[in-house]
Amino acid sequence: MQTVWILGDQLSHRWGEWLNAEGLHPGNARLLLIESAAKLRSRPWHRHKLTFVLSAMRHFAQQMREAGWQMDYRKAATFATGLRAHIAEYAPEGFVVMHPNTWQGAQFVQRALRYSTLRILPTKFFIASPADLGDARSPLMETFYRKMRRRTGYLMDGDQPVGGRWNFDAENRRPPPREFRKARTSGATRPPPALHIPALPTFAPDAITRGVMAEVAHIDTAWGALDGFALPVTRNDALAFFADFIAQRLPLFGPYEDAMVSGEATLFHSMISPLLNIGLLERDEVCAAVEREFREGRAPLNSVEAFIRQLIGWREFIYACYWREMPALREMNALRAIRLLPRFYWDANTDMACMRECVQTVWDRGYTHHIQRLMVLCNFALIAGISPQAVNEWFLAVYVDAYDWVVTPNVIGMGTFADGGIVGTKPYAAGANYIRKMGTYCEGCRYDPKKRTGPDACPFNALYWDFIARNADVLGANPRTSMPVMALRKMPRDDLAALRGHAQNLLDNLEKL
Ligand code: SF4
Repeated sequence: MQTVWILGDQLSHRWGEWLNAEGLHPGNARLLLIESAAKLRSRPWHRHKLTFVLSAMRHFAQQMREAGWQMDYRKAATFATGLRAHIAEYAPEGFVVMHPNTWQGAQFVQRALRYSTLRILPTKFFIASPADLGDARSPLMETFYRKMRRRTGYLMDGDQPVGGRWNFDAENRRPPPREFRKARTSGATRPPPALHIPALPTFAPDAITRGVMAEVAHIDTAWGALDGFALPVTRNDALAFFADFIAQRLPLFGPYEDAMVSGEATLFHSMISPLLNIGLLERDEVCAAVEREFREGRAPLNSVEAFIRQLIGWREFIYACYWREMPALREMNALRAIRLLPRFYWDANTDMACMRECVQTVWDRGYTHHIQRLMVLCNFALIAGISPQAVNEWFLAVYVDAYDWVVTPNVIGMGTFADGGIVGTKPYAAGANYIRKMGTYCEGCRYDPKKRTGPDACPFNALYWDFIARNADVLGANPRTSMPVMALRKMPRDDLAALRGHAQNLLDNLEKL
């Protein structure tokens, strides 16, 4: 018998079909899944993440057994001891593994099975590879995206993009409507009709999930809320979750893609990234379903194109960058940022309303959408000069959809510019103005987003200008970031000195913000 070792982020319903194509079937192959106790304690993982992965693995094992496969579901101290115990019990003729999604996973599989006959199947979870990036050190996402559109055929009319444009991003930057801001700040509990935000569907934990939650409650290294876990953990529930997005949120997803609203982790986002990243949903089925909504007149092109760009553009681009740049990527620190991660990333105890609310949302849900990640949580770390490795570790631990292949290039690249411009073409640094314009946080904050210095000035402002000053050589040489450097050079000397003095005071007292 062969052993097919399925990793915990490869829980696709299509394994039977894939293995049959390789000549493997329940008569000559046994499936193996391993829960490693060491892995569960290897980071301060969010309790929702632990619950989600373990419950999805156990449900997957049950479904594969019901489909007729022999399944060795093994709880072990480590992956290595689990493998050894499996080999001792079953003496497999060889191992089959689908290419792991992460660099560490690939290294481990090769090392752990070096004395076994090992066949690595090409990944079925991604379509891009480093070769698709071309030779440039800083590949352009837009070029890559067009290539993927042509390769997949999504939103194409022959060789041309549907609607005559590849990208409708310019139509997707609406801030939260004014009346919504007023409704929130006046204490109203229901959003007004102009921006009705449908609640996400919830899935009550079944006996398997409740059993997992009872175990997770005893993992004392874990972080985040355990209560409120309501994510789908089976293929059927994942499909229902996605169908609800199509029906309720897709039309407004595009326009409000970048808007941030207090207390809203998802707004009109799909929140399917955890399901895609673990294998419960497939890229092609969700892209095809979303395109159908446009073709049949139920969703606008700007929303549909934005969704498909996230899936076959950004997601695949990030994956390709990860495999091209690892393992060096993880240790990059182009801006030499070395500050420790402030405590408020863990306890949300800060007067900065945007940071407090985002961290609190992550504690509650293990999730925020991409702009809260990029323009609040990463932006603060970037302009405060916090170690990109510390930021990366935080994101890896606390988000329910986090895996090394997606978090590391997003944080080391786009979020902190620690790669010096491989993944993104500029650092995403911003003062309070962006957060005030695109979000509702500032309205409930003790800091004033319009002030740069003084005790009630928003810390983002002085830190932003200090960041520009600290990195003026790098930013001044980049056409996409030279404008703020020029503005800085025109600033009256006394103003700049006051701004930088205030920033230094903030940096010396980060824990008190
Ligand atoms: Fe965040 Fe500054 Fe706005 Fe407060 S004023 S919410 S700290 S951007």
